[in-house]
Amino acid sequence: MNYKRPMEISSKIVIIGPCTLEGREQMLPLWDFAKKWKFSYMRTPLFKPRTHPDSFQGLGEAGLPLVVETIERGLSPVIEVMSLKQLLIVAPFVHIIQIGARNMQNFELLKEIGPLYLTHCPHRPFVMLKRGFSNTTEEWMNSALYLEQAGIPQDKILLCERGIRSAASPKNVVLDLNSALDMKLNSPYKVLIDPSHGSKRSDLVLPLLKGALAMGFDGVMVETHPSPEKSVSDAEQAISPEMFEEFFAKDHI
Ligand code: PEP
Ligand code: MN
Repeated sequence: MNYKRPMEISSKIVIIGPCTLEGREQMLPLWDFAKKWKFSYMRTPLFKPRTHPDSFQGLGEAGLPLVVETIERGLSPVIEVMSLKQLLIVAPFVHIIQIGARNMQNFELLKEIGPLYLTHCPHRPFVMLKRGFSNTTEEWMNSALYLEQAGIPQDKILLCERGIRSAASPKNVVLDLNSALDMKLNSPYKVLIDPSHGSKRSDLVLPLLKGALAMGFDGVMVETHPSPEKSVSDAEQAISPEMFEEFFAKDHI
């Protein structure tokens, strides 16, 4: 299919990749897709925060060879950590350390990342702080300050709006572009938008991504899977490379 790489994307931090790493077969088409579109960052989540203890918790350390192959293919891995133990495992490889919504106010974690960042992370990664499900922008800003005071350089901190709870919206989540824009205008940090967790609906993800780019945010993160329906987690919001290309080929942007 003919595709057009939108101009708006060229200067942005674009993160694609699966909700969770499942295996090499899953990653092959995603690596190719990222290369074709010149996207730099690939989600390679090894540790998953799951609501139910019996749900798949991630490949853990066993997934590291796929992280290494991601780097060998010229892409930069994005990995969530929920503990210092996990950070130590991924530190030699990670290019964006993700602090998930559930840990936005895990102050001990925020305080302790800094020293390890300075001593153990050779790639000088970004630290991406996702907004908690119901947190105010002031609380979000304060959490970013914890990171900064722990030694993370200001220009290495990314904020990521991922939707907040709303009883009135489809799937009970609303992508709060209002607050994200406030942070973009009034904080010193780069702001990214995650329309995947921010809508939980694959039919809404790409139009929201388009809107986020048009609004001038610094980047986007979109969950991608070669066969969305087979995704082990968050299948309902996953986008396939084909869906992505079809959307952009129709000159939607
Ligand atoms: C994720 O991005 O993989 C994730 C779990 O998101 P959040 O922390 O926003 O729920
Ligand atoms: Mn997910």
